[in-house]
Amino acid sequence: MPNHQDSAELRRLIERAERVVFFTGAGISTESGIPDFRSPGGIWTRMAPIDFRDFMGSEEARRETWRRKFAVDPVLRAAEPNRGHRAVARLIREGRASAVITQNIDGLHQASGIPAEQVIELHGNTTYATCLDCGRRYEIDDIRVAFERDETPPVCTHCAGFVKTATISFGQAMPAEAMRRADAETRAADLFIVAGSSLAVYPAAGFPELAKHKGARLVIVNREPTGLDDIADLVVRQNIGDTLGDAVGVN
Ligand code: NAD
Ligand code: ZN
Repeated sequence: MPNHQDSAELRRLIERAERVVFFTGAGISTESGIPDFRSPGGIWTRMAPIDFRDFMGSEEARRETWRRKFAVDPVLRAAEPNRGHRAVARLIREGRASAVITQNIDGLHQASGIPAEQVIELHGNTTYATCLDCGRRYEIDDIRVAFERDETPPVCTHCAGFVKTATISFGQAMPAEAMRRADAETRAADLFIVAGSSLAVYPAAGFPELAKHKGARLVIVNREPTGLDDIADLVVRQNIGDTLGDAVGVN
């Protein structure tokens, strides 16, 4: 769906900005074939999330968590960055954007060529796993081979701690360093662009509010209304790939 006026307005805001910061959610990856949570038909209209307390307290919950992980993994592995990711990567490469703060766990911003240190992952990353006690890293392929034998949830070979994808579940502490960096980037931005988040999950959704409070312009590109549309300088209820792609001039 073309949206020339919105993209032109967004282009003007980007041209006038000194320091753009992006804030992305599941919506930027739907055009890569990864379903989001809260769109009609999204993942949570079908199954409730398993929170961290249940993961820690129940072997059956850990088994179910890993079953779900392996069920969705083929979709994740097949996914490639889309036009929206490429637009973000271009502005970062050109030095016009300093960072992308993301709630996504799919690694597609890194796959689009953005250096890892400019991708701030608030909810971690599902492309590898770690021991919750000692932090040792485990590869998903190795875990799958063992899990498929008898569905025993993985434990650390070093300290026997529970092994979990490197993501942040509901009820789990936010990653302190990522939160600190996101806070600093948000305060330094003069243009803050939200792409594909319902802005329903806190504390993550507090960043656009902070940006606006600190004097940045706020743009929200999201098909459905969000709770912060009222304070935004520009709201674009269109597809992200076309909107960002046209504004930045990438295919
Ligand atoms: P969300 O599902 O709550 O909201 C996504 C929003 O994006 C919706 O409001 C929807 O209208 C919009 N949207 C979807 N596709 C779009 C498109 N092509 N163009 C424009 N708008 C579009 O997502 P959220 O706010 O990121 O919160 C969900 C949580 O789930 C996050 O914390 C994240 O960790 C996790 N999650 C991540 C992924 C991923 O990594 N790709 C996928 C699903 C869920
Ligand atoms: Zn360990």
